[in-house]
Amino acid sequence: MSTLFPRSTDYNIQISEEHEAFRKVVREFAEKELAPLTAKIDRDNEMDMELVKKAGALGLFGVPFPEEYGGSNGDDLSLVLATEELARFSAAFSAVIGANYLVSVPLFLFGTPEQKTRFLVPIARGEKLGAHAMTEPGTGSDVAGISTTATKEGKNYVVNGKKMFITNGDKADTYLIFARTSAPEEGKRHRGVTAFIVEKGAPGLKVGQRINTIGLRGDQPVELIFENLEIPEENVVGELGRGVNVALSTYDHGRVGVAAQGTGLAQAALEAALNYSTQRQTFGEYLLTYQQVQFKIAEMAAAVQTARLLTYWAAALTKKGKDFIKASSIAKIAATEAAETNAHKAMLIMGANGVSAEMQVERILRDSQVIKTYEGTNDIQRLTIMKEIAKEMGVV
Ligand SMILES: Cc1cc2nc3c(=O)[nH]c(=O)nc-3n(C[C@H](O)[C@H](O)[C@H](O)COP(=O)(O)OP(=O)(O)OC[C@H]3O[C@@H](n4cnc5c(N)ncnc54)[C@H](O)[C@@H]3O)c2cc1C
Repeated sequence: MSTLFPRSTDYNIQISEEHEAFRKVVREFAEKELAPLTAKIDRDNEMDMELVKKAGALGLFGVPFPEEYGGSNGDDLSLVLATEELARFSAAFSAVIGANYLVSVPLFLFGTPEQKTRFLVPIARGEKLGAHAMTEPGTGSDVAGISTTATKEGKNYVVNGKKMFITNGDKADTYLIFARTSAPEEGKRHRGVTAFIVEKGAPGLKVGQRINTIGLRGDQPVELIFENLEIPEENVVGELGRGVNVALSTYDHGRVGVAAQGTGLAQAALEAALNYSTQRQTFGEYLLTYQQVQFKIAEMAAAVQTARLLTYWAAALTKKGKDFIKASSIAKIAATEAAETNAHKAMLIMGANGVSAEMQVERILRDSQVIKTYEGTNDIQRLTIMKEIAKEMGVV
C-alpha cells in the first residue's frame, strides 16, 4: 500500500505561448475595464451586466469548448488563467461567469447533440446565462438528500420544490435543475436524482428572494421555486436517475475554477499589502523596512505561489483527464485558504486602512469566506481527498 506518486512527469504543467497570449488579453481586460468597477460592484451589490456581455464577446464563457460548440478551443488551464485574472479584481465578476460552466460543462459532458446545439452553444458564446440549481433549504453537501420531485406525466416531467443559494438564478436564461425522479435505491441513495434543462419563462419556474451573503457582493444567489413546472422528457440531461453523477462530475471540473478565484484574491491581497507598506511611513521608516512586515509579506508571497502552482497543476491534470479529483480538491483548499490568510495579513499590515471598506482588503476577506464554502466546502474537499487516497491504497 502506497500513496507515492506513480510518475514524476505527472507534475508537468505545460503552459504554451497560446495560454500566455490568452492570459495577457484577459489581464488587459481586467485591468482596464474591471478594476475601475471593483469597489462599485461591491458597494452597490449589483453586477455590471454590460461588462459581463463584453466578457462574453471576449470568449470567456466558452473557453474550454471546441469551436463547434461556440467555444474558443482552449482548455481547463486557459480557464483558470482567465479566472485568476478576473478574481484579482472581482471574485463576484468571475463568479457570474464561472456559474455558467456549472451548466455548460454538464451539457458538454452528458448532453445530447440537440441539447448541445440548443443550450450549450448560446451559453458558450456568451449570448445566454446559465444557473445550476442543486442546493435546497434542507441540503447542500449531501446532494442525494434533495427533496425536489419530478413526476412523469405523459411526455413531461412535473417538478415541484425549492432551491436555495442559486448563483445567477435571477439573471439566467437557462437552468440546470436537479430533482428526484424516484426514491433512493437500497444501499444506493444517490440513485433516482435526475438533471433537467429548462428555460427562463417556463410556467411554474419562479425566482424567489435574493440571499445576502458576506461576500461576492454583486453576485448574490437567489431562491428558485418550482410549482408544477413542466419539463419535456427530451430535456433530461444524462441518464434518468443518474443526476448525482452529472453533478459530481461537474464539480470535479469546477472546483479548480474556485481555486483560481482564491489565487486571484490572494494575489490581490499581496499587492495591496506591498503597495501600502512601500508608501506608508511610521516613526520615519517605511512599513516594509520592519522585519515583522517583511515576514508577513514573504508568507503571503509563498501562499500565492503555492496556490497558483497547485491550481495550474490540477488544471493540467484535468486536461489529461487523470488523477485530477484529488489535485483539484487540494488546490481548492490551498487557494481559498490563501485568500483568507493573505487578506487577514494585509489587514494587519494596513492598520485602520486595512479594515476600511475603501482599501478593498476587507472585501477580499469577505469573498474568501464564500469561496471556501461553495462547490463543496473545504471540509467536503478533505473528505474527497481521503476517499481518493483510500482508492489509491486499494482500501475501498
Ligand atoms: C454565494 C453562494 C453561491 C452558491 N451558488 C450555488 C449554485 O449556483 N448552485 C447550487 O446548487 N448551490 C450553490 N451554493 C450552495 C453551496 O454549494 C452549498 O452552500 C455548499 O455545498 C454547502 O452546503 P450547505 O450550505 O447546505 O452546508 P451543509 O451541507 O449543511 O454543511 C454544513 C457544515 O457541515 C459540514 N459537513 C457536512 N457534511 C459533512 C460530512 N459528511 N463530514 C464533515 N463535515 C460535513 C460542511 O463542511 C459545513 O461546514 C452557493 C452557496 C453560496 C454561499
